[in-house]
Amino acid sequence: MNKRRTKKRRTKKQVIEIDSKGCWNLVSHSQNNKNTRKAYIKVYGSIPEGLVIRHKCDNNICVNPDHLEPGTLKQNQQDRIRNNTNPIGTRNGRAKLTEKEVLEIRALHNPGYRYNKVGRTGNCELLSKKYNVTSSLISQIVLRKAWSHI
Ligand SMILES: [Zn+2]
Repeated sequence: MNKRRTKKRRTKKQVIEIDSKGCWNLVSHSQNNKNTRKAYIKVYGSIPEGLVIRHKCDNNICVNPDHLEPGTLKQNQQDRIRNNTNPIGTRNGRAKLTEKEVLEIRALHNPGYRYNKVGRTGNCELLSKKYNVTSSLISQIVLRKAWSHI
């Protein structure tokens, strides 16, 4: 029984595609902060305590150490809000969500999750990971402060 456990622990091979902006796109894995952190630690040794890794290139799946820098969680959220999301909707063509997804988010959001282990915004957090947007955008969508037209 033990034999099976000790043998061959498979780790998924990383496939990285470098694009014209010099981003190392980790295409074999779903977007995951762990991979970003690992890529940073590999080169710089460690992440200063309490800080998260920001993408200077605003490309979430990029693992190029040159494009990564430590920052506060708040800065990271501001980066995302500034660069990736537009709470007003599709008007300027940069919004990442489709109307269908917005409706899905509202349907999936369960206020009962609000006070789970992850914290008050637990459910928003989960949805933000699923749709790769900020949890504050999710809560704005749910509260109809964003995408209020649908
Ligand atoms: Zn990059």
